[in-house]
Amino acid sequence: MNINVPIGITHLINTYSDHIKTLHDNPIIIAIDGHSSCGKSTLSKDLAALLSYKHIDTGAMYRAVTYHLITKEVDVYDHDAVIKHLDHIEINFNKVGEANHTFLNGQDIEEHIRGLAVAKLVSPVATISEVRHHLVNQQRRMGEAKGIVMDGRDIGSVVFPDAELKIFMTADPEIRAERRYQEMIIKGSEESYDQILENLKKRDHIDSSREDSPLIQVADAHIIDTSNLSRQQQLDQAMKLALSVIS
Ligand code: C5P
Repeated sequence: MNINVPIGITHLINTYSDHIKTLHDNPIIIAIDGHSSCGKSTLSKDLAALLSYKHIDTGAMYRAVTYHLITKEVDVYDHDAVIKHLDHIEINFNKVGEANHTFLNGQDIEEHIRGLAVAKLVSPVATISEVRHHLVNQQRRMGEAKGIVMDGRDIGSVVFPDAELKIFMTADPEIRAERRYQEMIIKGSEESYDQILENLKKRDHIDSSREDSPLIQVADAHIIDTSNLSRQQQLDQAMKLALSVIS
């Protein structure tokens, strides 16, 4: 088995070698839900790399739909107009170098979907049931063969209610905003810490209070609070949880 993991967690290949093999030979579904910017994607990527599983960032799918609507100048609050566009949206994930990028109708849109323009409109778009059905169907197909880590808001509750391992991630809003702010600085963005904090609080509120598939912590999910955990500690906790479901 050829495991390709980011530098910094390579030693975990040895620590967990037996369990990696077992989880690779008996693939499971790992559902990771939680608040905005609490590290879901990083943990999911690391876990998928360690286990040689597929990683699907479902937030990127909602962002891709939103980006498409913005470029077509569709009013995202006009649900009929949004629904008409759904059949013209094809989303894929492809490797670009070492990274997994989001493609919309064949175009690499990874750079475009992470900024505030999309972040401000994505939660209203994600309240539309037809958008959710469209994407949830695709997500279920992606997980048919198992061996997948999928992160989002409704993965353990709606997309894969029978997932073998469900994790619910959270962290203090200020810590989440600071992490996102640092990431955006590296990308050359001029968004302020306050704008980012306000956006993530707003998204948390819309995501948790919407009618269709709200963000909830399901009873059988394990909580990881990442406020004071390093990337490696989070991965370590998740690996221990993954072992507990196969042993
Ligand atoms: O995970 P990320 O922050 O990129 O997600 C962007 C937005 O997409 C969330 O704030 C939420 O409104 C929506 N989303 C969702 N269901 C998912 C994943 C994301 O409603 N499974």
